[in-house]
Amino acid sequence: MTSHIEVQPFIRNDQFNFIKFQVKHLVNAHSTVKDPDVLKAVQYGALDNIINLFPEMEEHYRIFDEIVEIKEEIQAENFLAGLKPYIIPFKQLTEKTVGKLFPKAKKLKLQFLKDIDFKEITYLGWYDIRSEKKFLIFDYKGKLMGVQGTFRHKTKGVCSLCNRHGEVGMFMANVKSGKETYTNRGNYICDDSQECNGNLQSLDRLENFIENLKN
Ligand SMILES: [Zn+2]
Repeated sequence: MTSHIEVQPFIRNDQFNFIKFQVKHLVNAHSTVKDPDVLKAVQYGALDNIINLFPEMEEHYRIFDEIVEIKEEIQAENFLAGLKPYIIPFKQLTEKTVGKLFPKAKKLKLQFLKDIDFKEITYLGWYDIRSEKKFLIFDYKGKLMGVQGTFRHKTKGVCSLCNRHGEVGMFMANVKSGKETYTNRGNYICDDSQECNGNLQSLDRLENFIENLKN
């Protein structure tokens, strides 16, 4: 029997993406910056930024120590792969649970679910060709929430979930605004939800988006 202490997953997908971008920045610095003092500042800056994501979790900080050693792409990849066991997966979604979130949607094609890496998503989003609608599933404060809407007017723009510039479309949801009244709420979001999940570096915008749909 091994005696190592098992660390429970504590890194969210958006936090993992933040770490990934910090590490990428570090590798770039090594190929462009020659001044050792500047490099040191970048290294420890990256470590600080990452540690600051996890206040009051000092016991986990050693996991990030090797960041300051990273110089090349391959080291970055190994480091990031080593973090995978610590990533919190999205709630396991089956065809049944998804069906319950969208009781009125008929015959949703959900075969793609088996190919989803639940450690790589903050939300689940897909376009259903048959109903011409985009479906989104969020884990909002521990509870699954499904939203569906039309998805049109594809263009280049900034996504209101991940804040990145890219291919976006207008997601328009019909939400309850009063006891018997409904209103349309529209937002530009990434066309490719997988890519969007890979770009999310915080939950701020995503939570605003959800709050806006709820009110
Ligand atoms: Zn996005």
